Amino acid sequence: MPKRLFFKNFRLPNVFVLLLIVFISCALLICINFFTIKILSANRAYVNGESHYSKGQKDASRHLITYLYTKEPIQWQHYIQELKVPQGDGIARKTLLKVGDNEVARLGFTTGRNHKDDLDDLVWLFVNFKNVSFLAKAIHEWEQGDNLINELFIIGTQINAKIQRNSLTAMDQQKFLTKISQISDQLTINERNFSNTLGEGTRKIKNLLIITNIIFILIIILSVCSYYSIMVKRLLISKKEIEVKNEDLIIVNRELDRFVYSASHDLRSPITSLKGLIEITQLEDDVNQIKYYLQLMHQSLAKQDQFINDIIDYSKNKRKQIVIEPVSLRELFDEAISQLMHIENANKITFKQELLIDEIQSDGLRLRIIIGNLISNAIKYADNSKQEMFISIKTYVDNDCHKIEVADNGIGINEEFKDSIFEMYFGTNKNKGSGLGLYIVKEAVENIKGNISVVSEKTIGSKFIVTIPNSYGI
Ligand code: ADP
Repeated sequence: MPKRLFFKNFRLPNVFVLLLIVFISCALLICINFFTIKILSANRAYVNGESHYSKGQKDASRHLITYLYTKEPIQWQHYIQELKVPQGDGIARKTLLKVGDNEVARLGFTTGRNHKDDLDDLVWLFVNFKNVSFLAKAIHEWEQGDNLINELFIIGTQINAKIQRNSLTAMDQQKFLTKISQISDQLTINERNFSNTLGEGTRKIKNLLIITNIIFILIIILSVCSYYSIMVKRLLISKKEIEVKNEDLIIVNRELDRFVYSASHDLRSPITSLKGLIEITQLEDDVNQIKYYLQLMHQSLAKQDQFINDIIDYSKNKRKQIVIEPVSLRELFDEAISQLMHIENANKITFKQELLIDEIQSDGLRLRIIIGNLISNAIKYADNSKQEMFISIKTYVDNDCHKIEVADNGIGINEEFKDSIFEMYFGTNKNKGSGLGLYIVKEAVENIKGNISVVSEKTIGSKFIVTIPNSYGI
């Protein structure tokens, strides 16, 4: 696709989609941050717990060694007390693995000197993430540590038994000391691994959190920017539309002013001439002269009648909605001709019809106005000096459009007037018309999305061609 065409076809997403994206991104951002903070807080609780575990184990070893050499019962009790810390954590781990969250597990963590406010986070992370690599690895280290704690417990029991039986030798003491030291060393490694693994997980989660935050914030910024650019674009478009409408209104207003001014003048002029004619008729005794005056009065009234009809057409054309319906062109032509036969010399004109299309889908009111005015003009501007006067009416399809042609061999239109004949109140002969006919025709044609053109030559004749769409997409 060419670049220009692509940009032309590219449309910014709907504003509602953008708002939805912003909403979803915010919701996801809140959720991700909430859960990440929870994970990080639980990690911190585990690292904290590990330090109690480690301290408990180390204190227990110290008390056991002291007990080994001093045999003081208080040292034995301290040893038992301190060993309970890692043992409690061990119970919590085993319970969580087997049955999940319960009171035994929570009690185990409490024995492991974990803070009660951390219990929920400790349990939640274990239950939900025990299979996630970093935690699974940490739990494995923890398990190995628990096994060593168990060994320490067994050694403690053996030492206590020997002390109680008074059978502890110096060699035993040496052997037990070595064993306790080995266990302690190994436990230190396990504890360090546990903390490192959790630390590593925490760092990974932190990095992931930064990246997702950046991505979502970028999405939100982009969406908000697009939203604003769409809104600004829309505002500019509607501003332009309002300006165009305002200009249209100014033109319509000017047109209306002109119309009212000229209409009042044109409506008055036949009345003035009628009044004058009545006055001179009252003074006249000659019957033939009176008959002549009456004929002039009749002409004056006919002119006013025509003018009023034009005003009615003008108003209907402006006011009435377009109604697309089946319309018979033949009927409209026949109706117009029969209604216009009263015009002088109309009966001397030959009407030729070549209707290749008759029934079409269009607006009947506008077509009646168009056809009526075109035929009326063709009759009014017929050339009496010609032996044969004719009006030729044609309808046909051309380039997927309907065409209506009204041609005559009348007086034709002067070259200088051709550009003005569709203007309001333009007329070359004020006795023959108001100058509104073709103006109304043009408006009516435009109302039904068509156009009108004229071909004319002085003394030869004129041809008006109306083009209208053959369908209105309904
Ligand atoms: P009018 O009421 O004066 O006929 P129109 O708007 O109908 O007003 O026509 C404007 C002018 O166009 C007429 O005054 C006339 O000069 C010219 N005209 C229109 N139709 C024809 C035609 N068929 N033959 C010659 N001149 C025409």
